[in-house]
Amino acid sequence: MRKIIVQKYGGSSVADTKRIRNVARRVVGYRKKGCNVVVVVSALGDTTDELLELAHSIVRRPSDRELDMLISTGEQVSVALLAMAMHKLGREAISLTGAQVGIITDAKHTRARILGVNTKRLKAELKKGKIVIVAGFQGTSLDREITTLGRGGSDMTAVALAKVLDARVCEIYTDVEGVYTADPRIVKDAKKLSTISYDEMLELASLGAQVLQSRSVEVASKFNIPIHVRSSFNNKEGTRIIKEVKAMEDVLVRGVAVNKNEAKLTICDVPDKPGVAAKIFKTLADNDINVDMIIQNISRTGATDVSFTINGADLAKTLRCAKDISRNIKARGVTHDKNIAKVSVVGVGMRSHSGVASKMFKALASKKINIEMISTSEIKISCVIDKRRVNEAVRAIHREFRLAKQ
Ligand code: ADP
Ligand code: ASP
Ligand code: MG
Repeated sequence: MRKIIVQKYGGSSVADTKRIRNVARRVVGYRKKGCNVVVVVSALGDTTDELLELAHSIVRRPSDRELDMLISTGEQVSVALLAMAMHKLGREAISLTGAQVGIITDAKHTRARILGVNTKRLKAELKKGKIVIVAGFQGTSLDREITTLGRGGSDMTAVALAKVLDARVCEIYTDVEGVYTADPRIVKDAKKLSTISYDEMLELASLGAQVLQSRSVEVASKFNIPIHVRSSFNNKEGTRIIKEVKAMEDVLVRGVAVNKNEAKLTICDVPDKPGVAAKIFKTLADNDINVDMIIQNISRTGATDVSFTINGADLAKTLRCAKDISRNIKARGVTHDKNIAKVSVVGVGMRSHSGVASKMFKALASKKINIEMISTSEIKISCVIDKRRVNEAVRAIHREFRLAKQ
């Protein structure tokens, strides 16, 4: 069988019928050139957000199972319409849901992980000469429940299919021309990167650059799957995600990312004694709450404040949990702040260079932006700041590291 290409088209690339026809023409063009194409599609435009809004207008906390039943419908609409657009062009194409394709996941609704893909149906359809169009973002659990793969999960579907089909490349088509040094919607002179390492892309994606779902990058990196992020509106070369090469270390900072979806909680006057932190964070973990940054100061009075950040969507649940913990460990109470954002710089070059943090702090200071929390790793530095100042912060940091296109 000819080598297969997996192409994923995001929501903005199939936002209306004109764009769906555009995608159909593009894919048929590749097919004519002799490529076997498997297409993964997201829901039209903002459909997933709209479906979630609908659910929350009925009940404040919908069941995760029913949410999956609902939001998985978005992708079923887009694959069927795209197949019809291809039929109109005289091509044989077939749309398939995650379940029909045989994407098997665990049972964790709304954030399921893929356990395996049964390629029998896919390969049979390809053998018949059909273009196969797969609904992204969804799968089916072992007990035949519909599951979804977390927001942005069509990227995961594409990477998983590229892996099991041993695809030549996994192309991610979106509404920008590739991966940039910062979100091009915030920083107008951000530069398109011709290549980026898996590690850097993983950090950028986990730190908020939504151009790729972070879990999909993790899997692509693990199996060394070549990814090409590019625009669905032109034929320009985009950004290739590659294994790190030595020359990459010459660049100090590859890009800046922001996450505006976090919230900060502080448990006040926590007694300063062994076992307390373990108690706090075990309780949060037992309640399935993912904690991001943590700060605890030394205490001078036998008690200290413990602050941590979480995903904003988990705020209500975390507040309930933190208040229980506070009573339990005899702390003074809990405060929270939704008006925060995390801004981060990423680059493998940081491993061998110093002075990155001070440069970042200088950029923030130049705009009189206060830093509330700091965390660092080998290849990134993150600061929590006031959400209202975040775009200004990104632009100042981008300028300080001279990342703009010349
Ligand atoms: P799709 O619907 O195609 O999946 P997404 O909206 O999920 O598209 O991701 C593309 C968006 O990611 C872009 O429109 C851009 O605003 C945003 N983005 C954030 N950071 C970056 C970055 N560093 N490079 C490119 N795009 C970025
Ligand atoms: N439609 C889903 C979402 O909006 C999946 C995706 O677009 O990748 O998150
Ligand atoms: Mg996306």
